[in-house]
Amino acid sequence: MGSFEALGLNPWIVKQCQMVGIENATPIQKECIPQVLAGKDCIGCAKTGSGKTLAFALPLLQVLSEDPYGIFALVLTPTRELAYQIADQFQIMGKPIGLRQCVIVGGMDMMRQGMELSKRPHVVISTPGRLYDHLGSCATFTLKKIKFLVIDEADRILSGDFDEQLKRIFEALPEQRQNLLFSATMTDTLDKVRKVAKKEMFLHETK
Ligand code: ADP
Ligand code: MG
Repeated sequence: MGSFEALGLNPWIVKQCQMVGIENATPIQKECIPQVLAGKDCIGCAKTGSGKTLAFALPLLQVLSEDPYGIFALVLTPTRELAYQIADQFQIMGKPIGLRQCVIVGGMDMMRQGMELSKRPHVVISTPGRLYDHLGSCATFTLKKIKFLVIDEADRILSGDFDEQLKRIFEALPEQRQNLLFSATMTDTLDKVRKVAKKEMFLHETK
């Protein structure tokens, strides 16, 4: 049995991984995927390039495939480039289930993004600033039913620079949700992270 299957992922995801030459899970993926599938919050800490994106994207896609419902997940990441990188991986892996995703970042037309958001994407991948703008400008746009909040590069997102936007964004989220935080470094931001999650946290260090 391949290592992804052993983590509890369905055959269609394992096949999709194989298609792009990914056979064995990285340590952070081994730690996090079963936790996410079990419905738990998760803090994943592993160095850059260790496969953190698929550590959240794969289990999230599996849960989505079993219960598609409105905007399902919000992924926050600090930069436009990272948002597109994450979107690429979601797109490839989510193809078999017809994943609809939407990238909401600065420098693009607000109206066009508003249109994309109105098409009921499953996953919204966004930088905090632009998401904040949409929450303020569009009355019908809601994140109240998301099941997953993913904070990628959590140390940067929670460094303080985005606090004003985050306050508004967190107000727009439901209390009940699964929180998945990923970071290359996780030091003094940890307290803040715990506050964000408000729930039981699991710390996976694979450095
Ligand atoms: P980071 O931990 O910095 O977020 P990424 O998730 O962007 O790293 O992954 C870095 C690269 O590794 C990507 O190109 C991704 O496709 C690849 N990758 C992810 N998981 C695996 C795996 N299990 N085996 C081989 N390559 C992988
Ligand atoms: Mg990353």
